[in-house]
Amino acid sequence: MNDSIKVSKEDSLTSSGWNFDNSYTRLAKTFFVKQKPTPVKAPQIVLFNQALAISLGLKAETLLGDEACAIFSGNKLPLGAEPIAQAYAGHQFGHLNMLGDGRAVLLGEHITPEGNRYDIQLKGAGVTAYSRRGDGRAALGPMLREYIISEAIHALGIPTTRSLAVVSTGELVYREGALPGAILTRIAASHIRVGTFQFAVSNDDPELVKSLADYTLDRHFPNLVNDENKYLSLLNVVIDNQAKLIAQWMQVGFIHGVMNTDNMSICGESIDFGPCAFLDNYDPATVFSSIDQQGRYAFGNQPPIAQWNLTRFAETLLPLIHHDIEESIRIAETALKAFADKYQHNWLTGMRAKLGLLAEEPDDLELVEELLNSMKKYRMDYTNTFRDLTSNLTSGSISNSSLNMEEYSDRPDFVTWHHRWINKLSRQTESIEIAKTLMLKTNPVVIPRNHQVEAALSATETGDFTVVEKLLAVLSQPYIEDASNISYRSPSLPSAVPYKTFCGT
Ligand code: AMP
Ligand code: MG
Repeated sequence: MNDSIKVSKEDSLTSSGWNFDNSYTRLAKTFFVKQKPTPVKAPQIVLFNQALAISLGLKAETLLGDEACAIFSGNKLPLGAEPIAQAYAGHQFGHLNMLGDGRAVLLGEHITPEGNRYDIQLKGAGVTAYSRRGDGRAALGPMLREYIISEAIHALGIPTTRSLAVVSTGELVYREGALPGAILTRIAASHIRVGTFQFAVSNDDPELVKSLADYTLDRHFPNLVNDENKYLSLLNVVIDNQAKLIAQWMQVGFIHGVMNTDNMSICGESIDFGPCAFLDNYDPATVFSSIDQQGRYAFGNQPPIAQWNLTRFAETLLPLIHHDIEESIRIAETALKAFADKYQHNWLTGMRAKLGLLAEEPDDLELVEELLNSMKKYRMDYTNTFRDLTSNLTSGSISNSSLNMEEYSDRPDFVTWHHRWINKLSRQTESIEIAKTLMLKTNPVVIPRNHQVEAALSATETGDFTVVEKLLAVLSQPYIEDASNISYRSPSLPSAVPYKTFCGT
C-alpha cells in the first residue's frame, strides 16, 4: 500500500523549494522506524499558512495546487523526504510509558534559505510501529484547534511549533462517534522531547543517551559543544529555556493542559496543543481538560510541573555529567534548584512590563500579587484587566487615575490596588508614555477565547471555514487595538457552562 507512494521528479527543489537533510535518520536505528504516511482517499486543503510557507522558503504558489494537497496529506512525498516515526517515552500524568509517534510521521528536516532547520511532521498520517491500539489518525476539530492555538501563541511572541496546513482526508475517524479525519502539517525546531531522553535511557545502553545528547547539542546549542562539561551546559540551557517559556505562558494566561514529559520539547518550544486553553477570569486552580481530574496541570501548577519534568530530564543525563554518580546528583540538584529562581525572575520581569514598571523596586512582587489576589477575588478577566489598565493612561490623566474607578466601586481591594499602582507609576523617572508603550506591547487585546474557538470549529462542521480564517487573522495581531477585533475581546458570558477541553486523540 505504502509502496505505491512515488517520489516524482516534479517535486524538485526549484518547483516547490523543499530542501531536506534528515540528520535524525543518522542516529542509531533504535530512535525511529522508517514509516511512510498511509495514503488517504480524498484530501482537500482546508487551511494553509502562506506566510509561514514563504518564511520557510517554500514557493507558496506552487504549493497551493494538487501537489500541496498530495504532499500535506501524505499521499505523495516531497523530494528528499525520508519519512520516519520517532520513538520516545513519557511520564503521562506521572506514569512512565513507552510511546513514540503513534499517529505522526516526520517527513524530514527542511533547511530554509537562511540555513535554519525545521522538522516537517504530518500529524494524523496513519498507523506506525508505535500506534499501540490507536488508529494513527486525527479528527478535523482537534487539528484545526492545534493550528489556531499554535499560531496564536506564535503571534503572542512565545516560542512554539507552528502549523503549515490542515488537510481533510475524506475519511472518517471513530471516536465517540464518526468524525471527519484530518492531517496537520506541524513545523518544529525539532521533536526532541524530555521523553526522547527517557526512551534513550530505557534501552540500557549508555552510548544511546550520549549520542542523543551530542545530537541535541549540535542541533540546538552548538555554542555549548566546547564547554568543559557540555552535558551540564545542556541541562542548564534546557532549564533556562523552560523557565522562560513557562513564564511567558503564565503571563498570557495559557494553560497547556497535558504537560507530560513527552509533551515537553528540549529546545524550549511550546508543543502538542491538545486540551489547552486560555484563562478567562484569573484563578490559579483553573483546569479545562476533562482528563485532568486531580488538577495536576492546573494553571498555577505549571511552573512546579515544569521543574518536575526537568528533574526527569536531569536523571537521564546523570551518567554524562560526572563519572561519580553521587557527585553528578549533587551537581544536577543544584542546577534544578535554580529553576525556581530563574522562573521567578522571568515571570516578575514580564509582570513588571505588563504593569509598565520600568525600574525594579523591592515591593514589585507584592504589587503584582495584590493585583492577582483581587482579580481572583472578584473573578476578573485576566487579559482584559491588564489591557484596560492602559486605557486613558496619559500624563494628564495620571493624577485622576486611568480607569473610571466608579465602575469598580464594588471591588474595594482593586480600587486600593489601583491607587497604589498609579502612585508608583507617577514616581517613575520615565514618562507615562514610555510605561504605556511597554504595557501595550505586553498585554494582548485578543487571545483565542474559548467560545470563539468553539464557534469557529462548529462553523467548519457545515463546511464554513470563513469563521476560522477571520479568527486566525484577528489572532495574528494580538497587541493591536482595532475596530475589527472588538467582538473578539469579550470572555464568554458568565452564564455559559464551564469550559471543558478534550484530548482529541
Ligand atoms: P498526545 O496525547 O497527543 O501527546 O499523545 C500521546 C501518545 O499517544 C503519543 O505516543 C501519540 O502518538 C499516541 N496517540 C495519540 N493519538 C493516537 C492515535 N489516534 N493513534 C495512535 N496513537 C495515538
Ligand atoms: Mg504528545
